[in-house]
Amino acid sequence: MVRQRNATASAIMRTLVREGPIGRKELAAATGVSFTTITKTVAELIELGALTEAAPAAPRGAGRPAVPLDLPGRQRLVVGAHLHPGSTTCGAFTLRGERVAWRAAPAHGRTQRERIEEAAQLVDEVVTEAGVEAVLGIGMVTPWAEVHHGAPPPLLSDVDHDELRAGLRRRLPHPVRLEPNVRAMAVEHYWWNDGGDDVLTVLVGRSVRVAQMRGGELVWDGPGAGGLVSHLVVPGSGFGCECGQVGCVKATCTDDALVRRAVAGGLLPPGSAQHDLYPRTDPEPLRQLRRDRAEELGRVIPLIMSLVAPAQTVVRGRLGTPEEISACIDAIRHRYRALVGRDPDVKYYDGGRPDLWARGSAALALDRYLASPLEHETSRLVRTE
Ligand SMILES: [Zn+2]
Repeated sequence: MVRQRNATASAIMRTLVREGPIGRKELAAATGVSFTTITKTVAELIELGALTEAAPAAPRGAGRPAVPLDLPGRQRLVVGAHLHPGSTTCGAFTLRGERVAWRAAPAHGRTQRERIEEAAQLVDEVVTEAGVEAVLGIGMVTPWAEVHHGAPPPLLSDVDHDELRAGLRRRLPHPVRLEPNVRAMAVEHYWWNDGGDDVLTVLVGRSVRVAQMRGGELVWDGPGAGGLVSHLVVPGSGFGCECGQVGCVKATCTDDALVRRAVAGGLLPPGSAQHDLYPRTDPEPLRQLRRDRAEELGRVIPLIMSLVAPAQTVVRGRLGTPEEISACIDAIRHRYRALVGRDPDVKYYDGGRPDLWARGSAALALDRYLASPLEHETSRLVRTE
């Protein structure tokens, strides 16, 4: 019974986030749950403050006008934070992804403990500004979590998940969800960018990662589950990987691999970082490096697509100039057609907004809330009493 109520509440809330305000009758049709059960569960959600009734539409003909249901605006928020090597960002968002609070701070911490304390303090400030009682949960992403065989050494942003969670726990009572960056992007795309029902997200950055949202769920579940394609071999690549294999994605087409190559070739000075690959004034050899990378991605991403078989593939990450990005997407399309015999649905998504990572992280908290809203609301009541 309890599980059934939770499932119905979840279906109602999920439909409202994706579809916008709708009435009880449409909710019943959209979820396949009986009108009676919908009415009962909606009443419960309104009582808890998880739903509101919007202003009724103008009456059509005789009878009572249908009262659309809506999400409660600023009374229910999700918070997301991101630890970048150079800064920490944090934002609070409504369940529709509208930003209501936002802070960014340069990273000063020189140890993991200092960095965690710094991040926890920023999150605390945003939660306080947004209203402790309105916040449903906190999402955080970590940019870089895989086995390091040696160089490059882990950065200070690569904080230990358990310690980060414990650091937040000491300050805040809210549930915390920590995930790799690509999973946040996949979830954000589904809930807030009108993403389709079966989307593979490929994130190209310091590592290459994939995540798939299918039917409203992340396909590979569990902490740190799947999605790391570092040691998949890029056809035709001769770059040796520290794992002992030749041609790995990690050694060929990540930002780290490109930086290494640019430094070795004298294009960038030693100690250069990821963002140095995309300077304002762009020397031709650096552009060539990125064009080669676009081709390399064009050879390996179709292999992942043909394995996973998503309805749509979305490539994200900085990649380069608009021309370099379309060259990459064209190469993927071309190779996929050669391998599979039909055109793929693949596109680049430019998420270039300053709050991108905080918003993605907040979507993780939303995703968790929507999985069991009744449970969440009940434990929230206990917490705030
Ligand atoms: Zn390898």
